[in-house]
Amino acid sequence: MEFAVDLLKQLAGVAMDALPNETGGLLIGWRDGETVVVCAWLQLGTPNPRRNRFEIDSKKATSALKGYLRTAANPLEGYVGAWHTHPALEAPSGRDFETFRSSAAATQAPLAFVVLATEGSSSVAHVVWSGRQNHEIIIETQKPIALGRIAE
Ligand SMILES: [Zn+2]
Repeated sequence: MEFAVDLLKQLAGVAMDALPNETGGLLIGWRDGETVVVCAWLQLGTPNPRRNRFEIDSKKATSALKGYLRTAANPLEGYVGAWHTHPALEAPSGRDFETFRSSAAATQAPLAFVVLATEGSSSVAHVVWSGRQNHEIIIETQKPIALGRIAE
């Protein structure tokens, strides 16, 4: 997986702004073989922000994605995954992995998932890749990336 410079730091800032609630949205980019290249993110608002759960409204996601892609510079850009935040330094939950798996099951293409955990002063990005090998869904968790203190 490849991320645009500062993309994870930007998400850490968004995670901090959302405290004490979770927020999330879509990852935009393209695939280079099995590699997912993430170049941008979209935040999807939620009418009822919560501390322990963020659900993507698929209608809202579709219209936000269409709006973005209308003006996208690169014609290869499209939906490549999703991100959400945790308002504590907590790794992806069992439910998160269920969601990753069901997203992976809905496509043949590899996807990227980011869970940005923050407690305010420090943040950790948990990055997960999903793809297929011999028709089996593979979920790979990367080593967590510490983002440290984010300057205001
Ligand atoms: Zn989560």
